[in-house]
Amino acid sequence: MTEYRIGQGSDLHVLVEKRDFILGGVKIPHTVGFKAHSDGDVLIHAIIDALFGALCLEDIGAHFPDNDPKYKNADSRNLLREAVSIIRKKGWEINNLDTTIHAEAPKLRPHIDEIRKSLADILNIDVEKVSVKAKTSEGVDAVGERLAVRTDCIVLLYK
Ligand code: MG
Repeated sequence: MTEYRIGQGSDLHVLVEKRDFILGGVKIPHTVGFKAHSDGDVLIHAIIDALFGALCLEDIGAHFPDNDPKYKNADSRNLLREAVSIIRKKGWEINNLDTTIHAEAPKLRPHIDEIRKSLADILNIDVEKVSVKAKTSEGVDAVGERLAVRTDCIVLLYK
């Protein structure tokens, strides 16, 4: 009998100058980037939290502490590979995931397919199982004021 587990994750990173703007492993040209201990890939961080959450394995900070020098400027793609390897070792596979990026700028639509492809490659699943949506916050809250970018992810695992 197939078992299913659902997981949810979210993250927020503050925007600062002289940092890269990376989403799902794709570097997007922008005037500001993410302040973070790692490379600041706020989309991948939400996905990792969803994966761990599905199996009650705490969160990204428990596995990859942000005060550990090992993760300074870490490539989040490697953290995601490690997270997936942990869930696969426990016998679970990803059915699909659905994500939302809340960002006022830049326009993300032209980059969505590249982000989906990048994530599908890292997760080693079909791109049709990876949904990435983007929306603005209509000029209000920290996202709307261009101070931060927020992300959400829901993932379904099966065994
Ligand atoms: Mg984060």
